[in-house]
Amino acid sequence: MTERADIKSMTPEELTALITGGGFPKFRAKQVADWLKKGAASAEEMKNLPADLKKFIQNYCYISVAIIEKKFVSRYDKTVKYLFAFADGECVESVVMRYRHGYSICISTQVGCRMGCTFCATGKSGFSRSLTASEMLAQIEAAQRDLDIRVSNVVLMGMGEPLDNFENVVRFIRLVSSEQSLNIGTRHITLSTCGIVPKIYELAKYRFQINLAVSLHAPNDELRSRTMPIARAYPMEQLLRACADYFEATGRRVTYEYALISGVNDSDECARELAQKLSGTHSHVNLIPVNAVEGTGFNKSSIKRQQSFADILAGRGIAATVRRTLGSDINASCGQLRRKHIDSIKEDL
Ligand code: SAH
Ligand code: SF4
Repeated sequence: MTERADIKSMTPEELTALITGGGFPKFRAKQVADWLKKGAASAEEMKNLPADLKKFIQNYCYISVAIIEKKFVSRYDKTVKYLFAFADGECVESVVMRYRHGYSICISTQVGCRMGCTFCATGKSGFSRSLTASEMLAQIEAAQRDLDIRVSNVVLMGMGEPLDNFENVVRFIRLVSSEQSLNIGTRHITLSTCGIVPKIYELAKYRFQINLAVSLHAPNDELRSRTMPIARAYPMEQLLRACADYFEATGRRVTYEYALISGVNDSDECARELAQKLSGTHSHVNLIPVNAVEGTGFNKSSIKRQQSFADILAGRGIAATVRRTLGSDINASCGQLRRKHIDSIKEDL
């Protein structure tokens, strides 16, 4: 499998080089690209190709697809959660949410995650491998086909740390926003990171117009490193400087994610310290009541605490929203479904 060419991850130029290198005329590459755009899963489906080109694709290439392994639809808000399987049997989760202005999909970038945040179901289940660009595209294509919709927003906020899979993620951003692929504008793409500082600088250099979300979850290093091991490698001061650089390079306001955990990071004092650290930055804070993951011992803050935290930020000029949680009945927070799936497979053995 690995020696075969992953044609859905290729740019039009790369695909042309491959097809012409195989002895076929250039216009055939465009035909193959058109079939891939239509979601063809095999050379067989590419009706207008000659038999020898179909054979070439079958022998030397593969087309990534995401197979629906499980699907859950929320009774409350029609949020849909998928467990998708790839060719090697590895599974990831994706969630489709419906907003007033269209559909948004949250996709995974890795099978598992190396970062080990203690509140996160993905972090708790270890790391298997990174996804290719085509496997990220395949999640969107499969959901669009299944629901007969067109997705308008993509968030890289599912399983995995996107900046720990940098090259494939950059390739994905280029492809998904290109006319030849799904044509989703970069302003409609959000990348969430736990804060790998050198990679934020690297990303800024591309000057993509994507939204950057940074998972902060604490107002200082001491508290942050209790739940996020990455905080020990990259202190908050460095992280905030990298975010300022990102804003300068791209003009895009950075969003900070802050999961409110009862009795851990949700005090008024934490809110005041956070407001002080973020004052003067071009940012927005998303407050999310933490999703209680089995075995973590963490619980969400009370509504009163959430409100008090948000009021303190707002009172100090920091834009903050308490995010509504969608799909709360289907464990829509990524990582939880795969973990259950793996546990149930283990039980079956
Ligand atoms: N690895 C990236 C993106 C995937 S996680 C990151 O960490 O940013 C997507 C978001 O979900 C992050 O903000 C992460 O901190 C948050 N998250 C993880 N587990 C959570 C939980 N149990 N409750 C609420 N948010 C959680
Ligand atoms: Fe990885 Fe993000 Fe989960 Fe941390 S929160 S373990 S970085 S997926």
